[in-house]
Amino acid sequence: MNGPAIKAAVIGWPVAHSQSPRLHSYWLSQHNIAGSYEALPVPPEKLALTLKNLHQSGFIGANLTIPHKEAALALVDHADPMARRIGAVNTVIAHKDGTLAGFNTDAYGFTHNILSVGFHPRARPVVVLGAGGAARAAIVALQDMDVSDIRLVNRTQARAESLAREFGAPVRAVAWNDAASALEGAALLINTTSLGMEGQPPLELSLTYLPREALVSDLVYAPLKTDLLKRAEARGNRILDGLGMLLHQARPAFAAFFGREPQVTEELRRHVLEGQKA
Ligand code: NAP
Repeated sequence: MNGPAIKAAVIGWPVAHSQSPRLHSYWLSQHNIAGSYEALPVPPEKLALTLKNLHQSGFIGANLTIPHKEAALALVDHADPMARRIGAVNTVIAHKDGTLAGFNTDAYGFTHNILSVGFHPRARPVVVLGAGGAARAAIVALQDMDVSDIRLVNRTQARAESLAREFGAPVRAVAWNDAASALEGAALLINTTSLGMEGQPPLELSLTYLPREALVSDLVYAPLKTDLLKRAEARGNRILDGLGMLLHQARPAFAAFFGREPQVTEELRRHVLEGQKA
């Protein structure tokens, strides 16, 4: 190792549950880089000041997690087009002159997770459940993959309609009560709601109309195999958990902070899962 140690962090509130320090520290050690990646608990009212002082405090940049991603978009000096489309920033680079550049790597993480199982949903119907931040990243990724039919189902229908207006075709809002029939002919079902997460009720959705060839992807990663994924697997559908997206979204951030292109491997998955169980 040589050169000054590079420091990066994840900023959240709370942030103790974040697996990002474990993930980035694994890559730092694998690439023999003199650097560190820590968790910074920052309440919303201190976010602006923390970001302003990031470079001065010795950080090259940071990742943002709940609840800061949307607020960070308004606090950076330059936001890349992807961050603007998603409406949130999950990575900032703090320049020497005190300015901040904001990026969003969630759509990248979503895309690479889907591609990692050899899936290409071009021109096939995709059903997205949820209309929050994770849904926005998934929709941008699907649009960039040329998906021609996105059925967007959300409990609060007005939110789904607003997203459909904002993103335009191919996004179409579907009523929450019609979710089961919206699965007819679908090639991909994605849960981006928080239903199924530890401490949350399971997602109650009949899969009767979902074709058996469809891939079922859950963005929830704690637990790794949600009730939705268990039910989908039991009826013969291929399933994809949310951990892959979490690992893949970290790759461009690590490259921006530390200058090396890290890989997502089975060993990394196991390493992060061990941290999640601890
Ligand atoms: P968010 O912006 O708060 O959105 C939450 C979504 O869940 C909304 O669509 C909301 O519907 C829906 N919802 C919540 N409770 C519900 C209920 N009881 N019944 C029906 N719908 C309900 O959250 P987010 O940032 O999008 O995150 C959503 C999930 O994705 C979380 O579990 C998060 O951990 C996961 N995620 C994973 C990754 C990854 O890398 N794997 C990345 C980002 C997020 P309403 O609009 O009706 O409230």
